[in-house]
Amino acid sequence: MSDKSYLEWPFFEERHRKLEAELDAWARDNVTAEHGDLDSACRELVAKLGAAGWLRYSVGGTAYGGAHETIDTRSICLLRETLARHSSLADFAFAMQGLGSGAVTLYGNDEQKRRYLTRVARGEALPAFALSEPGSGSDVAAMACSARLDGDHYVLEGEKSWISNGGIADFYVVFARTGEAPGARGLSAFIVDADTPGLEIAERIEVIAPHPLARLRFTDCRVPRSAMLGTPGLGFKVAMQTLDIFRTSVAAASLGFARHALDEALRRATTRDMFQQKLADFQITQVKLAQMATSVDSSALLTYRAAWRRDQGHKVTREAAMAKMTATESAQQVIDAAVQIWGGCGVVSNHPVERLYREIRALRIYEGATEVQQLIIARQTLKAYEEG
Ligand SMILES: Cc1cc2nc3c(=O)[nH]c(=O)nc-3n(C[C@H](O)[C@H](O)[C@H](O)COP(=O)(O)OP(=O)(O)OC[C@H]3O[C@@H](n4cnc5c(N)ncnc54)[C@H](O)[C@@H]3O)c2cc1C
Repeated sequence: MSDKSYLEWPFFEERHRKLEAELDAWARDNVTAEHGDLDSACRELVAKLGAAGWLRYSVGGTAYGGAHETIDTRSICLLRETLARHSSLADFAFAMQGLGSGAVTLYGNDEQKRRYLTRVARGEALPAFALSEPGSGSDVAAMACSARLDGDHYVLEGEKSWISNGGIADFYVVFARTGEAPGARGLSAFIVDADTPGLEIAERIEVIAPHPLARLRFTDCRVPRSAMLGTPGLGFKVAMQTLDIFRTSVAAASLGFARHALDEALRRATTRDMFQQKLADFQITQVKLAQMATSVDSSALLTYRAAWRRDQGHKVTREAAMAKMTATESAQQVIDAAVQIWGGCGVVSNHPVERLYREIRALRIYEGATEVQQLIIARQTLKAYEEG
């Protein structure tokens, strides 16, 4: 049983403790780490999460099915941490409902919110967030995909790569160059329905911990002007503000993986007989367990500090970057130590720690690689110093 003492920290209110307890019980009965066909498993998970009411937390605005007027960061972090502890695919399904529709929550008009958010909150529509391209990942401002105004329509041309939910999404929030200014100031965001002519799935991409992922191609893809989110040239801000919410939740998902790995390590270390004692009786093992437990708590402190500060209305660029960097990097180390404690069993395909070993890897890369977080933290630290 995972340590739950962190729920007593002052970052949380009673409603958060209740949410965690109810979700943990629900997840135990409703999700498993094993699944068959990936696409159907994702759709089923979204439907189940929606029917149970959990997706209400992934959108903002009670008029559009949201649990709160704005997204409560502590709630989505607790949801992701808890789901990730049970099943990475359940966490993925939940996370994408939020990330994919986050720009609509932040910048959608009433009509857009009514049309898209209500279905996302009920688990009836799957969204996707299409920012990255083959030639522009970390360097978002190098984006090449373009949207040219032609009468009452924008015409999209270009490619998007590494798009989670690609191939199964019902709509995509697509960022494209509209050219109001050079670089980051010349981008805009659009909602593109999956069945829009000119949008095709160019390639499905398989990764070490499978989830639906694709490269998209836009060829003479026409969307009405009303599909734009916010105003022309606002795209970079829309993308960064969306990531600012969900970056902290990536840290929370890593925390869920790390807690699961620590539980598995404790289970093995306390039962495995070796040299006439248990593996946990050796001080070398205890050093590992101490390091793992401390890493988990350090990550949790940074994650929930960032979530709590955002819920108090503060800007959390620095805090979210610290949480994401620390939680993803240290979860990789905690999981690696769990594999070591399990010995040969730890590398057998589909053993829980072997799965975690693959599942954590991409989190150190997406939504800003560790090096990007380091740059953000350094920039913010230098700025604070220079401002005295
Ligand atoms: C499983 C998965 C799911 C994803 N889902 C989505 C999605 O839904 N939507 C979406 O838009 N994108 C998605 N992405 C894309 C993801 O955001 C990019 O992979 C990420 O931004 C890195 O871009 P890149 O892969 O082009 O690597 P590059 O930008 O080429 O970077 C390669 C490496 O360079 C290093 N690096 C980066 N910047 C610096 C620097 N300034 N100094 C030194 N080193 C640096 C980092 O180690 C980085 O990993 C996903 C990626 C993966 C793997």
